[in-house]
Amino acid sequence: MSYRAGRHFLQIPGPTNVPERVLRAMARPTIDHRGPEFQALGRSVLDGVRNLFRTTSPVVIYPASGTGAWEAALVNTLSPGDRVLMADTGHFANLWRGVAEKLGLEVVALPGDWRRGAEPEALEAHLRADADRAVKAVCLVHSETSTGVASRIPALRQAIDQADHPALFMVDTISSLASMDYRHDAWAVDVTVSASQKGIMLPPGLSFTALSARALAAHAKARLPRSYWDWTAMLAANEKGFFPYTPATNLLYGLQEALAMLAEEGLEQVFARHVRHAEATRAAVDAWGLELVCQHAEEYSASLTAVLMPEGCDADQLRRAALDRYDLSLGVGLGRLAGKVFRIGHLGDFNDLSLIGTLAGVEMGLGHADIPHTAGGVQAAMAHLAA
Ligand SMILES: *Cc1c(COP(=O)(O)O)cnc(C)c1O
Repeated sequence: MSYRAGRHFLQIPGPTNVPERVLRAMARPTIDHRGPEFQALGRSVLDGVRNLFRTTSPVVIYPASGTGAWEAALVNTLSPGDRVLMADTGHFANLWRGVAEKLGLEVVALPGDWRRGAEPEALEAHLRADADRAVKAVCLVHSETSTGVASRIPALRQAIDQADHPALFMVDTISSLASMDYRHDAWAVDVTVSASQKGIMLPPGLSFTALSARALAAHAKARLPRSYWDWTAMLAANEKGFFPYTPATNLLYGLQEALAMLAEEGLEQVFARHVRHAEATRAAVDAWGLELVCQHAEEYSASLTAVLMPEGCDADQLRRAALDRYDLSLGVGLGRLAGKVFRIGHLGDFNDLSLIGTLAGVEMGLGHADIPHTAGGVQAAMAHLAA
């Protein structure tokens, strides 16, 4: 492959563009992970990352992709044959379900049509009907990255409370943490799962589980086999700023820098920036005359927008045109949405002009791929940003 001048636009909904400051921080020499210099780094990131989850409880950091944290959440709190209720909101929810099934858990689905989030009323009804309290955990994806739909976590928490059900509450925030408002403690979530390569602006390779006192109590009794993911050894080592095995030292340098950058901008400003970019993106989609996957305005994800192709058009043709001509990567349609949907990631290290460049690439790509649309999406987005 020959050199392509200019910056590649990595506008898939994760991994996201890694800022220079993070790349430079990671370029430092690797140090002894049992020495005092590491201990200071370990303490700083283990403490700092809790703020992203808005929790005072421990957050465990794994050298693993998000899938590892999915597994960690389950094996640390559940026993063989336990029933878990998982909302079928999209492709990532289904992948988490697959992990639970392979671990020997009994998965019951809260059905969905992939165009809206988990429904609080349906959750409450299911839990009320569970008279013998067989459901041990409720698992949900906050921002479903295959559809651009965000489930309303506070309302879903309230549904569990109204059913007066003791199930653990587990939430995947892999594409929402540090992009959308999320509150592990205030929303009484027991295990929050996340990963490094989306809103946190790091390369892939770190994942997280935020815990609660109830999750730790369940952990003490849980009988699924666990070794690499075991919170007990991890939390004991973390007490002193260390890890039970070799940590991803250079990614932790990156995490320290990313935490500093998020603090400098301010989390509230970070969330507002993502909301505004998502609004401008929807203004463009509307002007193009295309349809969003998400059907409910109160459930728009601020991290990404998933767009349906007109009947008979191939989303991958558009994605190819955008990549070949403009060096722009757009997200692929996943699972049952393959070929029918493309996704625009507008999360992480991103500003107005990166959004306008992205949308211009999409609009020109729609033309090259002969996809029926109306011009003027970029104009509509600019008007929204300028307002
Ligand atoms: C990206 C993503 C994942 C996948 O995590 P990996 O890091 O690929 O293992 C899981 N859930 C959601 C919601 C995601 O956006």
